[in-house]
Amino acid sequence: MIARLITSILLIGFCGGSEAAALSIESVRIWAAPENTRVVFDLNGQVEHKVTTLDNPSRMVIDFTNVTLSNTLPKPVAADRFVENIRKSGETGELRVVLDLKKPAQVHSFQLPPNEKYSHRLVVDISAASQEQQVTQAEESVQIASRSIETKIPDTAEPVDPLADDESPARLPNNSSMRDVIIAVDAGHGGDDPGSIGPSGIHEKVIALTIAKKLVAKINKVHGMKAILIREGDYFIKLRDRMEKARQHKADLFVSIHADSFKDSKVIGSSVYVLSQRGASSEHAKRLAARENASDLIGGVTLEDKDNVLASVLLDLSQTASLEASIDVAERVLGGLKKIGNLHKKRVESAAFAVLKSPDIPSVLIETAYISNPSEEKKLRNPVFQDTLTSAILDGLVGYFRLRPPENTIMANNRDQEHVIGRGDTLSGIAERYQVSLRSLRKENGLENDRIRIGQKLRIPASASIVASESTTR
Ligand SMILES: [Zn+2]
Repeated sequence: MIARLITSILLIGFCGGSEAAALSIESVRIWAAPENTRVVFDLNGQVEHKVTTLDNPSRMVIDFTNVTLSNTLPKPVAADRFVENIRKSGETGELRVVLDLKKPAQVHSFQLPPNEKYSHRLVVDISAASQEQQVTQAEESVQIASRSIETKIPDTAEPVDPLADDESPARLPNNSSMRDVIIAVDAGHGGDDPGSIGPSGIHEKVIALTIAKKLVAKINKVHGMKAILIREGDYFIKLRDRMEKARQHKADLFVSIHADSFKDSKVIGSSVYVLSQRGASSEHAKRLAARENASDLIGGVTLEDKDNVLASVLLDLSQTASLEASIDVAERVLGGLKKIGNLHKKRVESAAFAVLKSPDIPSVLIETAYISNPSEEKKLRNPVFQDTLTSAILDGLVGYFRLRPPENTIMANNRDQEHVIGRGDTLSGIAERYQVSLRSLRKENGLENDRIRIGQKLRIPASASIVASESTTR
């Protein structure tokens, strides 16, 4: 008995003696992320369990004590990087669940107490076995991410150009010492954490990812800008890790996309938030920050992780500068959103958002609309509105970086720009790439129609602003 106590990872007491009714696993969910796979067991109480990792073939064995399985086990998706199969093993009298692995891996398991969305949970996180493997994994996932951005998202309908062939539009020869402005786009929530849920049942995490992907595609079309998608699919990432990924990619800005909810379903409009260390700008902002920060608890972070988050948040003086930049960007984005519809608050709001606590990267959080309002929920699901919305956000971002480009960037070097027409170029494509209106592009170059020829030089007007609807209705 003593030996058994020692080998058990967790022994929990409140069910009293061995006479207590058997606990059961109500469901099992698998979330496949680029760098880990999370298996979640939904339970009707806390359990005693033991996880053992085995080699040849690689597998993970979870032994449960006094637990029954009430449902069938799910199949991992083919793209899962770690888990090949999940099965029940009948070798012992007690419940044993075996995860057949695609490669050697390490495991971290912990239990979570019930919250408003879930009952008791046992979370099993599976990740690459060694440091070395993790690095390759990360690189691989970055490549996959950028590939999927380029291939999965269809371009908005472009007029057919007689010059165009299969080649992608000619790129300006970039000055190699100049870099792109890098924007990290974060889709809020994910995996176990659905975020807010709209009246029709759609989850905020789904809307946020759709909008984030569209924003990424638009940013990547702008000359001198590059976007990084922080969450690429339906899985959970800790708030702290979201910022960390942005830092790894040397992002100049971190933008987190959300769709808020409120108990009064009449409440509507977009808002833009920045971090505040001194308290929230309104009660509403304070409550919202508390809700968004709960993501880690809902999505599943252990207490030890939580302490690390607090310990490692270095809110030093350098944040003052990035906070000023955050407010500046936020105001510009708010200005863009104002053009397309209702603002919930006319001013940039602030509160203590954990996801924005990056000491060196300006960070903003955009609540695109209220998913709790039936008509806004409908808009959020509509691809046309998603386009308008992302164009408006892009407008704000481009406006900011045109005015305050970071040093050594293409945008800093491109105050007076010229574009040499290449194969596949269209006037509207050029307008979109430099984020200028078609009208101002024609005017600047004295064009009477949209006919252009290869080798022709166009002056790019300095005006940063583009009418949001123009880029979507074209
Ligand atoms: Zn949210």
